[in-house]
Amino acid sequence: MITGASSGIGAAAARLFAAEGAAVVLMARREDRLKQLADDIEAGGGRALAAPGDVACAEDVRQVVARAEETFGRLDVAFNNAGWGTAGTPLHETEDAEFDKVMAVNVGGLWNCLRHQLPAMLRAGTGAVVNTASTAGVVATGAGAPYVAAKHAVIGLTKAAAAEYGERGIRVNSLVVGTTRTELIEGAVKQHPELETAFVERQIQKRMAHPDEVAHAALWLAGPHSSFVTGTAMAVDGGL
Ligand code: NDP
Repeated sequence: MITGASSGIGAAAARLFAAEGAAVVLMARREDRLKQLADDIEAGGGRALAAPGDVACAEDVRQVVARAEETFGRLDVAFNNAGWGTAGTPLHETEDAEFDKVMAVNVGGLWNCLRHQLPAMLRAGTGAVVNTASTAGVVATGAGAPYVAAKHAVIGLTKAAAAEYGERGIRVNSLVVGTTRTELIEGAVKQHPELETAFVERQIQKRMAHPDEVAHAALWLAGPHSSFVTGTAMAVDGGL
C-alpha cells in the first residue's frame, strides 16, 4: 500500500515496487492519475490496484486496507508517503486553516494508516512500514512551521510504532527526505521563487533529488535487506 501514489515520490515508488514484483495498492485523491498509473503497471506485467481516498479520512483508509487484503490476500508493506506543506510564510502570518490541514494530512493521515495497517500486518504475520518524513522533521529547514511540526511528529509516530511492534515482526522506519523535484516543490517555488536557490544551496550535492532516488531508499527499508533496521529515520537528503 503506497499513499501519495498519484505523483512524485509515491508514483516513482509504485513503479519501482511493482517492477520488483510487489502487488501495489495505490492511494491518493486524484483517481484519474491512479488509474493511469495502475494501467501502466499492469501493461508492463505488474499487479496494481487504484484505490482512491483521502488519508485524512479514517474511513477511506480503512476501506483501502480492506481492499488490499481482499484483492491481494494480505498487506505486508506500507509506504505512507502522502503529505503536503508550504514554505515561505512566517508563522504569525500562517492561517490556522493551513496548520489544521498540514497536521490532518501528514500526522492524522499517518495515524489513520497505522491504525488500520498494523492490524492487517499482524494478521499477515509480518510487516514493514516506511513513512515519509523530511529534513524538516529533524531541523527547522525554512519550511513552514506547521510542516516542521508535522514532520517531527511523523518521526515520533514511527519510533513509537517501531517500539511497540518490533517483537511482533513488524518494522517501522521513516525517510528523512531532502528537497526532491516534485509537484510539491514546484508549487512552493512558484509562490516563492527565491526558494529554488535556497533549496539547492543547503545541500552538499547542490541539487535536488530525483523521485527515483527516494523510491530506492523506500524499497530498501520495505524489503528484506533491511531486516535488522527499525525505528530509524534514514536520511536521503543530498548531505546537509
Ligand atoms: P507530490 O505533491 O508530488 O506528492 C504528494 C502526494 O500526496 C500526491 O500523490 C498527493 O495526491 C498525495 N496527497 C496529498 N494529500 C493527500 C491526502 N489528503 N490524501 C491522500 N493523498 C494525499 O510531492 P512529493 O512526492 O514530494 O511528496 C511526497 C512526500 O514527500 C510528502 O509526504 C512530502 O511531504 C514529502 N517530502 C517531499 C520533499 C520534496 O522536496 N519534494 C522533501 C521532504 C519530504 P493527491 O493530490 O492526488 O491526493
